[in-house]
Amino acid sequence: MERFDAVIIGAGAAGLFCAAQAGQAGLRVLVVDNGKKAGRKILMSGGGRCNFTNLYTEPAAYLSQNPHFCKSALARYTQWDFIDLVGRYQIAWHEKTLGQLFCDDSAEQIVDMLLQECAKGQVTLRLRSEVLEVAREGEEAFLIRLNGGEVRTPALVVASGGLSMPGLGATPFGYQLAQQFGLNVLPTRAALVPFTLHKPVLEHLQALSGVSVPALVTAESGVAFRENILFTHRGLSGPAILQISSYWQPGELVSVNLLPDDDLNAFLDGERAEHPNQSLKNTLAKRLPRRLVECLQTLGQIPELTLKQLDARQQTQLADTLHNWRVQPNGTEGYRTAEVTIGGVDTAGLSSKTMEAHKVPGLYFIGEVVDVTGWLGGYNFQWAWSSAWACAQALGER
Ligand code: FAD
Repeated sequence: MERFDAVIIGAGAAGLFCAAQAGQAGLRVLVVDNGKKAGRKILMSGGGRCNFTNLYTEPAAYLSQNPHFCKSALARYTQWDFIDLVGRYQIAWHEKTLGQLFCDDSAEQIVDMLLQECAKGQVTLRLRSEVLEVAREGEEAFLIRLNGGEVRTPALVVASGGLSMPGLGATPFGYQLAQQFGLNVLPTRAALVPFTLHKPVLEHLQALSGVSVPALVTAESGVAFRENILFTHRGLSGPAILQISSYWQPGELVSVNLLPDDDLNAFLDGERAEHPNQSLKNTLAKRLPRRLVECLQTLGQIPELTLKQLDARQQTQLADTLHNWRVQPNGTEGYRTAEVTIGGVDTAGLSSKTMEAHKVPGLYFIGEVVDVTGWLGGYNFQWAWSSAWACAQALGER
């Protein structure tokens, strides 16, 4: 039977990076993945350009039952370390917005870089190789049954990712393995995901499909994001909606300020003084997409009046509608389109320094399978790099 110093389940961002580091530290490393390509999510990410980190990475940008857990790894392998690595491979990048760094050319460059790093560490990569079962052999080793043989190792790293995008190979295997070894797994749900809307609202808003507007979106908890929202044929999407979806629970409302940069009362008062006979619709179309104004009018939320006809009560009501449009999502599009999975392996059972399970020496969990979920904007890949690096250091010191 083959033996490796470490076996890593998952050739995604975390698995490849951990394998490369551990291999370069002199370990004999095997990475297995059920797909026919390594780094499939990386290739899909950032619209094919991979938003590989964020300049403003900090623990506050992560959701976790224990918000302190991510601090150690993020502090020891930072966004600057990864930017440095990308620089050594001469991969050109740019900041798109809000500290989000993307490749100028293609996400393939990041996967190629990771594979070259793995080659430097003489890592063995087996694709189309699904882990079917893991058994403990005494205190010292794990026996791993693959769909093509068995391997033995003293160190098993689970980097099998979350549940989002089953079409890209996502499986609940990592969670099941954690439970098999007595670790707690927190409930999971789709995050960074578009909202669907109730049918009657959707019927009216469908006409807006494709319209995007800057907005301030606030969850019931008070967390808010100031980015664009996008109307779709299923409901609402766009970066501000994806962000807030991580903070939304079924049944809750979200508040959308459609005019985050304007004081509507001051704007309407100024316009009324100059153009009293101008229709409210044409006035609002100076600040909002006309299709949105027309749609809100058919929904009865914008009265069909001229500015001089609009009384103080109606104006207050209108300001409330546009500055605080309350939407009750019907649900989300779910794992099919979600970028990440919230929840997962409870960090209470893991060392934040090494990612090793307290109760099971030699068993490690890194990347998205762990209950650490970043905001949209490169934060999730940075968690994959940082947690993988922390784990690889520990493997090297074994
Ligand atoms: P993954 O990358 O999911 O890798 C896990 C691997 O394990 C997969 O290849 C899977 O096939 C394999 N696997 C699972 N079960 C088994 C098994 N039983 N046997 C063998 N192999 C198995 N984040 C960002 O920071 N920036 C972005 O631009 C960005 N864009 C994204 C775009 C899309 C469309 C999606 C879906 C996600 C995006 N994300 C982005 C999130 C990011 O891709 C993930 O957080 C990250 O890939 C997690 O890395 P990971 O290594 O933990 O898991």
